[in-house]
Amino acid sequence: MFSNLKPQPADKILALSGLYRADPREDKIDLGVGVYKTAEGKTPIMTAISKAEKILHETETTKSYAGLAGQPDFHAAMASMVLGEGYPADRLAFLSTVGGTGACRQAFELARVANPDMKVWVSDPTWPNHITILNFMGVEVKPYRYFDNDARAVAFDAMIEDLKQAKKGDVVLLHGCCHNPTGANLTLEQWAVVAETLLETGATPMIDLAYQGFGDGLEADAAGTRLMAEKMPELMIAASCSKNFGIYRERTGCLMVLGDAANTAVTQDNLSKLNRLAYSFPPFHGQALVAKVLTDPTLRQEWEDELEAVRNGMLGLREQLASELRQLTNSDRFDFLAHHRGMFSRLGATEEQVLKMREDNAIYMVGDSRLNIAGLNKTSVPLLAKAIVAAGV
Ligand code: PMP
Repeated sequence: MFSNLKPQPADKILALSGLYRADPREDKIDLGVGVYKTAEGKTPIMTAISKAEKILHETETTKSYAGLAGQPDFHAAMASMVLGEGYPADRLAFLSTVGGTGACRQAFELARVANPDMKVWVSDPTWPNHITILNFMGVEVKPYRYFDNDARAVAFDAMIEDLKQAKKGDVVLLHGCCHNPTGANLTLEQWAVVAETLLETGATPMIDLAYQGFGDGLEADAAGTRLMAEKMPELMIAASCSKNFGIYRERTGCLMVLGDAANTAVTQDNLSKLNRLAYSFPPFHGQALVAKVLTDPTLRQEWEDELEAVRNGMLGLREQLASELRQLTNSDRFDFLAHHRGMFSRLGATEEQVLKMREDNAIYMVGDSRLNIAGLNKTSVPLLAKAIVAAGV
Protein backbone atom coordinates (compact mmCIF):
# COMPACT_ATOMS: atom_id res chain seq x y z
CA MET A 1 0.00 0.00 0.00
CA PHE A 2 2.68 2.46 0.94
CA SER A 3 4.31 2.05 -2.43
CA ASN A 4 1.39 4.14 -3.72
CA LEU A 5 2.72 7.15 -1.85
CA LYS A 6 4.38 9.87 -3.85
CA PRO A 7 7.33 11.97 -2.70
CA GLN A 8 6.15 15.27 -1.26
CA PRO A 9 7.55 18.57 -2.45
CA ALA A 10 9.86 19.94 0.26
CA ASP A 11 8.55 22.82 2.38
CA LYS A 12 10.60 25.64 0.86
CA ILE A 13 11.20 27.47 4.11
CA LEU A 14 12.24 24.37 6.06
CA ALA A 15 14.46 23.24 3.16
CA LEU A 16 16.19 26.62 3.24
CA SER A 17 17.09 26.07 6.92
CA GLY A 18 18.81 22.82 5.91
CA LEU A 19 20.85 24.61 3.23
CA TYR A 20 21.82 27.31 5.72
CA ARG A 21 23.02 24.76 8.29
CA ALA A 22 25.13 23.01 5.65
CA ASP A 23 26.85 26.25 4.54
CA PRO A 24 30.37 26.34 6.05
CA ARG A 25 30.86 30.13 5.60
CA GLU A 26 31.26 31.81 8.98
CA ASP A 27 29.58 35.10 8.13
CA LYS A 28 26.40 33.43 6.80
CA ILE A 29 23.12 35.18 7.61
CA ASP A 30 19.84 33.29 8.12
CA LEU A 31 16.82 35.38 7.15
CA GLY A 32 14.64 32.36 6.44
CA VAL A 33 12.35 30.61 8.90
CA GLY A 34 10.00 32.81 10.98
CA VAL A 35 11.55 32.52 14.42
CA TYR A 36 12.55 35.50 16.56
CA LYS A 37 16.27 35.71 17.25
CA THR A 38 18.36 38.00 19.40
CA ALA A 39 21.40 39.85 18.06
CA GLU A 40 23.39 36.73 19.04
CA GLY A 41 21.14 34.51 16.93
CA LYS A 42 19.46 32.83 19.94
CA THR A 43 15.75 32.22 20.52
CA PRO A 44 15.61 32.53 24.31
CA ILE A 45 12.82 31.50 26.68
CA MET A 46 11.10 34.69 27.82
CA THR A 47 11.74 35.27 31.52
CA ALA A 48 8.05 35.51 32.42
CA ILE A 49 7.50 32.14 30.74
CA SER A 50 10.39 30.56 32.70
CA LYS A 51 8.89 31.87 35.93
CA ALA A 52 5.42 30.62 35.00
CA GLU A 53 6.98 27.20 34.30
CA LYS A 54 8.52 27.12 37.76
CA ILE A 55 5.20 28.00 39.37
CA LEU A 56 3.44 25.35 37.31
CA HIS A 57 6.05 22.77 38.25
CA GLU A 58 5.56 23.52 41.94
CA THR A 59 1.77 23.62 41.89
CA GLU A 60 0.70 21.04 39.32
CA THR A 61 -0.61 17.90 41.01
CA THR A 62 -1.77 15.75 38.10
CA LYS A 63 -1.09 15.05 34.47
CA SER A 64 -4.53 13.61 33.88
CA TYR A 65 -6.52 14.74 30.84
CA ALA A 66 -7.81 18.31 30.92
CA GLY A 67 -10.44 20.10 28.81
CA LEU A 68 -11.26 18.75 25.35
CA ALA A 69 -11.84 22.24 23.96
CA GLY A 70 -9.03 23.61 26.13
CA GLN A 71 -8.81 25.51 29.39
CA PRO A 72 -11.41 28.20 30.18
CA ASP A 73 -8.84 30.44 31.92
CA PHE A 74 -6.66 30.34 28.80
CA HIS A 75 -9.66 31.14 26.59
CA ALA A 76 -10.72 34.10 28.74
CA ALA A 77 -7.16 35.47 28.90
CA MET A 78 -6.72 35.12 25.12
CA ALA A 79 -10.11 36.73 24.42
CA SER A 80 -9.27 39.75 26.52
CA MET A 81 -5.79 40.07 24.99
CA VAL A 82 -7.14 39.84 21.44
CA LEU A 83 -10.54 41.49 21.75
CA GLY A 84 -10.14 43.68 24.84
CA GLU A 85 -11.64 43.34 28.28
CA GLY A 86 -15.24 43.88 27.23
CA TYR A 87 -15.25 40.99 24.75
CA PRO A 88 -18.69 39.54 24.03
CA ALA A 89 -18.37 36.27 26.00
CA ASP A 90 -21.89 35.11 25.11
CA ARG A 91 -21.10 35.23 21.40
CA LEU A 92 -17.76 33.41 21.56
CA ALA A 93 -16.90 29.73 21.25
CA PHE A 94 -13.30 28.60 21.83
CA LEU A 95 -10.94 25.85 20.87
CA SER A 96 -7.42 25.35 22.14
CA THR A 97 -5.34 23.99 19.32
CA VAL A 98 -1.95 22.67 18.33
CA GLY A 99 -0.36 26.05 17.61
CA GLY A 100 -1.71 28.70 15.28
CA THR A 101 -1.49 26.17 12.47
CA GLY A 102 -3.94 23.95 14.36
CA ALA A 103 -6.23 26.94 14.88
CA CYS A 104 -6.22 27.64 11.14
CA ARG A 105 -6.86 24.00 10.31
CA GLN A 106 -9.74 23.67 12.77
CA ALA A 107 -11.23 26.95 11.53
CA PHE A 108 -11.21 25.62 7.96
CA GLU A 109 -12.72 22.33 9.19
CA LEU A 110 -15.50 24.12 11.09
CA ALA A 111 -16.35 26.31 8.13
CA ARG A 112 -16.45 23.27 5.86
CA VAL A 113 -18.82 21.46 8.21
CA ALA A 114 -21.06 24.55 8.12
CA ASN A 115 -20.80 24.87 4.34
CA PRO A 116 -19.28 21.93 2.40
CA ASP A 117 -19.10 24.10 -0.74
CA MET A 118 -17.22 26.98 0.81
CA LYS A 119 -14.32 28.66 -0.92
CA VAL A 120 -11.55 30.34 1.03
CA TRP A 121 -10.22 33.68 -0.19
CA VAL A 122 -6.57 34.24 0.64
CA SER A 123 -4.29 37.20 0.10
CA ASP A 124 -1.87 36.96 -2.81
CA PRO A 125 0.65 36.25 -1.40
CA THR A 126 -0.10 34.57 1.92
CA TRP A 127 1.65 32.21 4.34
CA PRO A 128 2.15 29.21 1.99
CA ASN A 129 0.83 26.72 4.55
CA HIS A 130 -2.65 28.28 4.30
CA ILE A 131 -2.80 27.17 0.69
CA THR A 132 -1.14 23.80 1.26
CA ILE A 133 -3.62 22.88 3.99
CA LEU A 134 -6.62 24.02 1.95
CA ASN A 135 -5.39 22.13 -1.11
CA PHE A 136 -4.92 18.99 1.01
CA MET A 137 -8.46 19.38 2.34
CA GLY A 138 -9.76 19.77 -1.22
CA VAL A 139 -11.15 23.23 -0.48
CA GLU A 140 -11.19 25.69 -3.34
CA VAL A 141 -8.75 28.57 -2.82
CA LYS A 142 -9.48 31.98 -4.33
CA PRO A 143 -6.61 34.47 -4.23
CA TYR A 144 -7.37 38.16 -3.77
CA ARG A 145 -4.85 40.79 -4.85
CA TYR A 146 -3.04 42.22 -1.84
CA PHE A 147 0.50 43.37 -2.56
CA ASP A 148 1.69 45.96 -5.06
CA ASN A 149 5.12 44.61 -5.97
CA ASP A 150 6.36 47.94 -7.32
CA ALA A 151 5.23 50.08 -4.40
CA ARG A 152 5.89 47.24 -1.90
CA ALA A 153 2.61 48.26 -0.25
CA VAL A 154 -0.97 47.00 0.03
CA ALA A 155 -2.82 47.17 -3.31
CA PHE A 156 -5.96 48.20 -1.51
CA ASP A 157 -8.28 49.11 -4.40
CA ALA A 158 -7.49 45.83 -6.13
CA MET A 159 -8.00 43.95 -2.87
CA ILE A 160 -11.47 45.41 -2.38
CA GLU A 161 -12.39 44.84 -6.02
CA ASP A 162 -11.55 41.15 -5.58
CA LEU A 163 -13.23 40.78 -2.18
CA LYS A 164 -16.49 42.03 -3.71
CA GLN A 165 -16.56 38.69 -5.59
CA ALA A 166 -16.71 36.68 -2.33
CA LYS A 167 -20.08 35.07 -1.66
CA LYS A 168 -22.12 34.32 1.42
CA GLY A 169 -20.81 31.01 2.72
CA ASP A 170 -17.23 31.78 1.65
CA VAL A 171 -14.45 32.48 4.11
CA VAL A 172 -12.15 35.48 3.64
CA LEU A 173 -8.82 34.95 5.35
CA LEU A 174 -7.06 38.11 6.55
CA HIS A 175 -3.82 38.59 8.49
CA GLY A 176 -4.56 40.48 11.71
CA CYS A 177 -1.20 42.26 11.71
CA CYS A 178 2.39 41.79 10.52
CA HIS A 179 1.37 40.27 7.20
CA ASN A 180 3.38 37.19 6.30
CA PRO A 181 5.24 37.28 3.90
CA THR A 182 5.00 40.91 2.80
CA GLY A 183 5.13 43.04 6.00
CA ALA A 184 2.55 45.40 4.42
CA ASN A 185 -0.54 45.93 6.57
CA LEU A 186 -3.99 47.49 6.44
CA THR A 187 -4.66 50.80 8.18
CA LEU A 188 -7.62 50.97 10.52
CA GLU A 189 -9.54 52.95 7.89
CA GLN A 190 -8.88 50.17 5.41
CA TRP A 191 -10.06 47.53 7.89
CA ALA A 192 -13.33 49.48 8.11
CA VAL A 193 -13.73 49.31 4.32
CA VAL A 194 -12.98 45.57 4.37
CA ALA A 195 -15.70 45.15 7.02
CA GLU A 196 -18.21 47.10 4.92
CA THR A 197 -17.34 45.09 1.83
CA LEU A 198 -17.76 41.77 3.61
CA LEU A 199 -21.01 42.91 5.19
CA GLU A 200 -22.30 43.62 1.67
CA THR A 201 -21.19 40.24 0.31
CA GLY A 202 -22.19 38.19 3.38
CA ALA A 203 -18.84 36.33 3.36
CA THR A 204 -17.39 35.27 6.73
CA PRO A 205 -14.04 36.77 7.73
CA MET A 206 -11.30 34.74 9.36
CA ILE A 207 -8.31 36.45 10.91
CA ASP A 208 -4.95 34.74 11.32
CA LEU A 209 -3.29 36.52 14.23
CA ALA A 210 0.18 35.02 14.60
CA TYR A 211 2.24 38.08 15.57
CA GLN A 212 0.24 40.22 18.01
CA GLY A 213 2.75 42.51 19.72
CA PHE A 214 5.41 42.27 16.99
CA GLY A 215 4.19 45.21 14.90
CA ASP A 216 2.94 48.40 16.55
CA GLY A 217 2.26 46.97 20.02
CA LEU A 218 -0.15 44.54 21.68
CA GLU A 219 -3.18 46.84 21.51
CA ALA A 220 -2.46 48.44 18.13
CA ASP A 221 -1.87 45.05 16.50
CA ALA A 222 -5.32 43.89 17.62
CA ALA A 223 -7.14 47.03 16.43
CA GLY A 224 -8.18 45.61 13.05
CA THR A 225 -9.38 42.37 14.64
CA ARG A 226 -11.38 44.31 17.25
CA LEU A 227 -12.99 46.45 14.58
CA MET A 228 -14.04 43.34 12.68
CA ALA A 229 -15.38 41.75 15.90
CA GLU A 230 -17.47 44.84 16.51
CA LYS A 231 -18.90 45.14 12.99
CA MET A 232 -19.26 41.59 11.74
CA PRO A 233 -22.01 39.18 12.76
CA GLU A 234 -19.58 36.28 12.38
CA LEU A 235 -15.80 36.05 12.64
CA MET A 236 -13.18 33.35 13.19
CA ILE A 237 -9.87 34.27 14.83
CA ALA A 238 -6.91 31.86 14.74
CA ALA A 239 -4.42 33.16 17.30
CA SER A 240 -0.94 31.73 17.75
CA CYS A 241 1.08 32.01 20.99
CA SER A 242 4.25 30.75 19.33
CA LYS A 243 5.93 34.08 18.59
CA ASN A 244 4.64 36.59 21.12
CA PHE A 245 5.16 34.17 24.05
CA GLY A 246 8.19 32.52 22.44
CA ILE A 247 6.74 29.04 23.05
CA TYR A 248 6.99 27.69 19.53
CA ARG A 249 7.52 24.04 20.47
CA GLU A 250 4.76 23.96 23.08
CA ARG A 251 2.28 24.23 20.20
CA THR A 252 -0.19 26.67 21.67
CA GLY A 253 -2.98 28.27 19.70
CA CYS A 254 -6.55 29.44 20.23
CA LEU A 255 -9.42 29.50 17.79
CA MET A 256 -12.19 31.94 18.68
CA VAL A 257 -15.46 31.82 16.81
CA LEU A 258 -17.78 34.78 17.12
CA GLY A 259 -21.40 34.43 16.08
CA ASP A 260 -25.01 34.84 17.13
CA ALA A 261 -25.32 34.25 20.90
CA ALA A 262 -28.15 31.79 20.21
CA ASN A 263 -25.67 29.55 18.33
CA THR A 264 -22.71 29.70 20.70
CA ALA A 265 -23.41 26.38 22.45
CA VAL A 266 -23.83 24.48 19.18
CA THR A 267 -20.71 26.07 17.71
CA GLN A 268 -18.84 25.06 20.88
CA ASP A 269 -20.06 21.45 20.52
CA ASN A 270 -18.84 21.36 16.95
CA LEU A 271 -15.46 22.78 17.88
CA SER A 272 -14.96 20.28 20.71
CA LYS A 273 -15.87 17.47 18.30
CA LEU A 274 -13.18 18.66 15.86
CA ASN A 275 -10.52 18.30 18.56
CA ARG A 276 -11.88 14.87 19.53
CA LEU A 277 -11.66 13.72 15.91
CA ALA A 278 -8.18 15.08 15.25
CA TYR A 279 -6.20 14.47 18.44
CA SER A 280 -8.62 14.50 21.39
CA PHE A 281 -7.20 16.78 24.07
CA PRO A 282 -5.06 19.73 22.98
CA PRO A 283 -1.59 20.29 24.55
CA PHE A 284 -2.06 21.65 28.08
CA HIS A 285 1.34 23.04 29.07
CA GLY A 286 1.45 26.09 26.79
CA GLN A 287 -2.12 27.04 27.65
CA ALA A 288 -1.26 26.99 31.36
CA LEU A 289 1.83 29.14 30.81
CA VAL A 290 0.00 31.73 28.73
CA ALA A 291 -2.94 31.91 31.16
CA LYS A 292 -0.52 32.38 34.07
CA VAL A 293 1.52 35.09 32.35
CA LEU A 294 -1.56 36.99 31.20
CA THR A 295 -3.39 36.92 34.53
CA ASP A 296 -0.56 37.40 37.05
CA PRO A 297 0.03 41.19 37.11
CA THR A 298 3.79 40.93 37.80
CA LEU A 299 4.45 38.29 35.16
CA ARG A 300 2.22 40.14 32.72
CA GLN A 301 4.23 43.34 33.10
CA GLU A 302 7.51 41.47 32.73
CA TRP A 303 6.24 39.75 29.59
CA GLU A 304 4.89 42.97 28.06
CA ASP A 305 8.23 44.69 28.70
CA GLU A 306 10.16 41.89 27.04
CA LEU A 307 7.76 41.80 24.10
CA GLU A 308 8.18 45.56 23.69
CA ALA A 309 11.96 45.15 23.68
CA VAL A 310 11.69 42.47 20.98
CA ARG A 311 9.38 44.69 18.92
CA ASN A 312 11.54 47.78 19.28
CA GLY A 313 14.66 45.78 18.43
CA MET A 314 13.09 44.76 15.12
CA LEU A 315 11.94 48.32 14.41
CA GLY A 316 15.50 49.55 15.03
CA LEU A 317 16.87 47.01 12.54
CA ARG A 318 14.26 48.08 9.99
CA GLU A 319 15.27 51.73 10.39
CA GLN A 320 18.95 50.87 10.14
CA LEU A 321 18.50 48.77 7.01
CA ALA A 322 16.38 51.44 5.30
CA SER A 323 18.91 54.11 6.21
CA GLU A 324 21.91 52.06 4.93
CA LEU A 325 20.07 51.51 1.65
CA ARG A 326 19.14 55.18 1.42
CA GLN A 327 22.81 56.07 1.59
CA LEU A 328 24.00 53.34 -0.76
CA THR A 329 21.39 54.02 -3.44
CA ASN A 330 20.97 57.73 -2.85
CA SER A 331 17.23 57.13 -3.04
CA ASP A 332 14.26 56.39 -0.81
CA ARG A 333 13.15 53.33 -2.72
CA PHE A 334 13.87 50.98 0.17
CA ASP A 335 12.10 53.13 2.76
CA PHE A 336 9.24 50.62 2.69
CA LEU A 337 11.43 48.44 4.92
CA ALA A 338 10.98 50.99 7.70
CA HIS A 339 7.23 51.25 7.05
CA HIS A 340 6.53 47.53 7.02
CA ARG A 341 5.75 45.88 10.35
CA GLY A 342 6.41 42.52 11.95
CA MET A 343 9.12 39.98 11.45
CA PHE A 344 8.95 39.93 7.66
CA SER A 345 9.31 42.14 4.63
CA ARG A 346 9.13 41.18 1.02
CA LEU A 347 12.11 42.82 -0.57
CA GLY A 348 10.83 42.60 -4.14
CA ALA A 349 13.95 40.82 -5.47
CA THR A 350 13.78 38.25 -8.27
CA GLU A 351 14.55 34.57 -7.59
CA GLU A 352 17.89 35.06 -9.41
CA GLN A 353 18.80 37.99 -7.18
CA VAL A 354 17.86 35.97 -4.06
CA LEU A 355 20.08 33.14 -5.31
CA LYS A 356 22.94 35.52 -6.08
CA MET A 357 22.84 36.86 -2.52
CA ARG A 358 22.91 33.29 -1.23
CA GLU A 359 25.84 32.29 -3.45
CA ASP A 360 27.92 35.46 -3.21
CA ASN A 361 27.15 36.60 0.33
CA ALA A 362 25.80 33.54 2.20
CA ILE A 363 22.54 35.43 2.81
CA TYR A 364 19.59 33.08 3.10
CA MET A 365 16.14 34.50 2.38
CA VAL A 366 13.06 32.73 1.01
CA GLY A 367 12.86 32.55 -2.82
CA ASP A 368 10.03 35.12 -2.95
CA SER A 369 12.53 37.53 -1.27
CA ARG A 370 10.83 37.41 2.14
CA LEU A 371 13.38 38.29 4.77
CA ASN A 372 13.15 37.75 8.51
CA ILE A 373 14.21 41.05 10.08
CA ALA A 374 14.94 39.27 13.39
CA GLY A 375 17.69 37.29 11.64
CA LEU A 376 19.72 40.50 11.42
CA ASN A 377 21.83 42.40 13.92
CA LYS A 378 23.61 45.76 13.83
CA THR A 379 26.70 44.16 12.25
CA SER A 380 24.93 42.17 9.56
CA VAL A 381 22.59 44.98 8.42
CA PRO A 382 25.33 46.82 6.43
CA LEU A 383 26.42 43.50 4.86
CA LEU A 384 22.84 42.81 3.74
CA ALA A 385 22.43 46.35 2.40
CA LYS A 386 25.59 46.01 0.30
CA ALA A 387 24.52 42.59 -0.97
CA ILE A 388 21.08 43.93 -1.95
CA VAL A 389 22.69 46.66 -4.03
CA ALA A 390 25.34 44.31 -5.49
CA ALA A 391 22.58 41.90 -6.58
CA GLY A 392 20.92 44.78 -8.45
CA VAL A 393 17.63 44.70 -6.51
N1 PMP B 1 -0.04 31.92 10.57
C1 PMP B 1 1.00 32.60 10.11
C2 PMP B 1 0.76 33.76 9.20
C3 PMP B 1 2.31 32.26 10.47
O1 PMP B 1 3.33 32.95 10.00
C4 PMP B 1 2.49 31.15 11.34
C5 PMP B 1 3.86 30.73 11.77
N2 PMP B 1 4.80 30.64 10.79
C6 PMP B 1 1.36 30.48 11.80
C7 PMP B 1 0.11 30.89 11.40
C8 PMP B 1 1.41 29.27 12.71
O2 PMP B 1 2.20 29.32 13.78
P1 PMP B 1 2.30 28.13 14.82
O3 PMP B 1 1.55 26.96 14.32
O4 PMP B 1 3.76 27.85 14.94
O5 PMP B 1 1.72 28.68 16.08
